[in-house]
Amino acid sequence: MNWGDTEEEAAFRRSVRRFVRDAFPAAYRPDPHAENGLEPEDVRGYNWPADLRSADATRAAGARAWAAALARRGWIAPRWPRRYGGADLSATRAFILHEEIMRAGKPAVNGLGVFLLGPTLLVHGTAVQKAEHLPPTARGERVWAQGFSEPEAGSDLAGLCTRAVREGDQYVVNGQKVWTSLGHHADWLFVLVRTGSDPGAPRHRGITFLLVDARSPGITIRPITDIRGAAPFCEIFFEDVRVPVANRVGEEGMGWYVAMDTLSFERAGLGTTIKFDHALTDLIAYLKTEHGAEQLHPEWDHGLRSEIARRYIEVRVSHQLARYAVAREDAGEVPGHEASVNQLFSAELHQRLARTGARAFGPHGLLWRGDETQPAPLDGAFTHLWFDAVAATFMGGTSEIQRNVIATRGLGLPSA
Ligand SMILES: Cc1cc2nc3c(=O)[nH]c(=O)nc-3n(C[C@H](O)[C@H](O)[C@H](O)COP(=O)(O)OP(=O)(O)OC[C@H]3O[C@@H](n4cnc5c(N)ncnc54)[C@H](O)[C@@H]3O)c2cc1C
Repeated sequence: MNWGDTEEEAAFRRSVRRFVRDAFPAAYRPDPHAENGLEPEDVRGYNWPADLRSADATRAAGARAWAAALARRGWIAPRWPRRYGGADLSATRAFILHEEIMRAGKPAVNGLGVFLLGPTLLVHGTAVQKAEHLPPTARGERVWAQGFSEPEAGSDLAGLCTRAVREGDQYVVNGQKVWTSLGHHADWLFVLVRTGSDPGAPRHRGITFLLVDARSPGITIRPITDIRGAAPFCEIFFEDVRVPVANRVGEEGMGWYVAMDTLSFERAGLGTTIKFDHALTDLIAYLKTEHGAEQLHPEWDHGLRSEIARRYIEVRVSHQLARYAVAREDAGEVPGHEASVNQLFSAELHQRLARTGARAFGPHGLLWRGDETQPAPLDGAFTHLWFDAVAATFMGGTSEIQRNVIATRGLGLPSA
């Protein structure tokens, strides 16, 4: 296991750094206050799909230009084959690429379409589906959202009840999805629906995986406002929505198995590790300023130094877990329960790091943004991270579910 870069990888890293420095559009100012930044590959709350749909024409044009610059090198979807707009990069190089983009504080492009839907189509899609959907996604021209969860189906995903009934060469879909990240910015949705009606069959049978044009008649999308007053996700209602049978991925009734592959492509902490690194570096730099140093005064300290040292070690561990995952991928191994180890560790670290940061600011940690007379330290970044972190132990599968997976599939312990 190589924990650092080889010479070739170090050269590649330098070339990415140069590219980001030279190719990032000067006029593009990602919105740092959009508060849409729940996805792991977002840095400082930036969110490219929200910028793409921004009412600010310069920002929207900047988001398009950044996508075009990356797409010219196949770097929006670097792991995909070149014929679909990718760059055929190894998992390690793709990781280095994203690491450098994020380290430079620039937004990644088209996360869900690239990391979840694309690999799913490469394995399960028809030739027509791949040709239709992969190239525009790799150019940043087609944004995807994942419609799996429903009001009564989250951890218990097999309990979903959005129904699709076949009529000729179409499915007619009725039901509701919820917590769909960035669904209100999406062009297309990948959704799970129930097609089977045999009450005696196991619940995970009879589920089908569909690709749905988000502008189809009968779809209503309502953004959901979260604790920060932002709307990073939405609920989606389907009323007699007609979806061509040609948009089905895999066999009818076998969508559960397709979806399990989709979930295994979640990169399990690969993006968050950079986000944490950023946050901790900023925090340490702040504590070395005159204002920050006051917080380390013995009256405030209460073990803050050792707490920050612990966070530093944990961020290093999270980085090594990510490197280990990509090295395994390059060795042709499929992530199993290790993906849950990474996801669980990074989700809980997210919350610990946010708490440490908020503590380090003392009473200033209560400031959301502040004003000219009393600016919030680091523009309130850690207060925001704290709120952002609430969802961390839910969004990619809850901590309890990850522990169940590690215990049963990883350690071979009996189910509860
Ligand atoms: C910010 C955010 C973004 C999201 N984005 C998306 C998205 O883009 N697409 C999408 O489809 N979904 C999305 N989700 C939904 C997410 O997948 C679900 O929230 C998650 O699967 C948990 O489901 P639930 O909310 O229904 O909670 P529940 O499943 O109802 O869980 C409630 C509690 O019960 C516990 N629990 C449940 N079952 C067990 C068990 N068997 N053993 C032990 N404990 C258990 C859970 O751990 C949790 O603590 C998002 C959620 C969030 C918060």
